[in-house]
Amino acid sequence: MRIVVLAGGIGGARFLRGLKQAAPDAEITVVGNTGDDIHLFGLKVCPDLDTVMYTLGGGINEEQGWGRLDESFTVKEELAAYGVGPEWFGLGDRDFATHIVRTQMLGAGFPLSAVTEALCARWQPGVRLLPMSDDRVETHVAIEVDGEQKAVHFQEYWVKLRASVDAKAVVPVGAEASKPAPGVLDAIAEADVVLFPPSNPVVSVGTILAVPGIRDAIVAAAASGTPVVGLSPIVGDAPVRGMADKVLAAVGVESTAKAVALHYGSELVGGWLVDTVDAGAVADVEAAGIRCRAVPLMMTDVEATAAMAREALALAEELR
Ligand code: GDP
Ligand code: CA
Repeated sequence: MRIVVLAGGIGGARFLRGLKQAAPDAEITVVGNTGDDIHLFGLKVCPDLDTVMYTLGGGINEEQGWGRLDESFTVKEELAAYGVGPEWFGLGDRDFATHIVRTQMLGAGFPLSAVTEALCARWQPGVRLLPMSDDRVETHVAIEVDGEQKAVHFQEYWVKLRASVDAKAVVPVGAEASKPAPGVLDAIAEADVVLFPPSNPVVSVGTILAVPGIRDAIVAAAASGTPVVGLSPIVGDAPVRGMADKVLAAVGVESTAKAVALHYGSELVGGWLVDTVDAGAVADVEAAGIRCRAVPLMMTDVEATAAMAREALALAEELR
């Protein structure tokens, strides 16, 4: 079975670990969000690709959900001693090596997709990890500070400001002119199932769908009978983790499992899983033409996550 998953960072990566356990023989292609990418200290950092790679490759800091296991921060301290920041983005020594290798390869002319493949040769994530695009796309967030409108990089909004001010708009800068990375559209066209993990619907999945051609490819696959199933990142009217409510509000979507399903729409997703606490939303989601089930959606451990993945695949079978 060929499965395509559109993934952000932590939510996507953790779900993928469960999916691998639930479907050990499946050929899984991950289309990763690169809208969170940022240049720091002259290095290209791809937080979501790395979270997927480290999580599936056994190198992740489990408690944090991002960054490396057994990490130290000597380089960051030395940079700070020179007064060189930003100090709010935690790059550890082991993590730095990844960004150095990536930046060196990009500088030598390799596209990000080839670089990601090279990095994965070390981590062996057990999935094919593709960036959504080889072109630079950078998510910016419009905010108002002291009555003044400005746009900041997504990481500045998320990590430095902790989404403490309202997001007026979320813009994937460069998306319009970007092209899907090699292999992305073919993987979608050849997929037996497409899954939207419980990733952020705006700045993770939404950004991937903003790359021209990707949304259309999924809609076309769905129209030709490929089941597309999503899992809600919103449980009990709040994100399980993080501040997704802030960026959902920016696109006019309520933080409910139902509103996110309707935001994607029945053209895109044919099936939707909500948590059991949101069972009351099932009828409304189904009324919108999306088959819906309420099942436990908390990724407390790999076993619980694998059960979620099995539910998603079972719903996909029902849709076939
Ligand atoms: P990020 O790039 O690191 O922010 O990660 P993603 O975009 O892939 O996923 C973030 C989303 O995962 C957040 O909106 C969370 O609500 C959601 N999430 C995290 N843990 C869980 C969980 O255990 N269950 C569900 N249903 N969603 C989760
Ligand atoms: Ca992210």
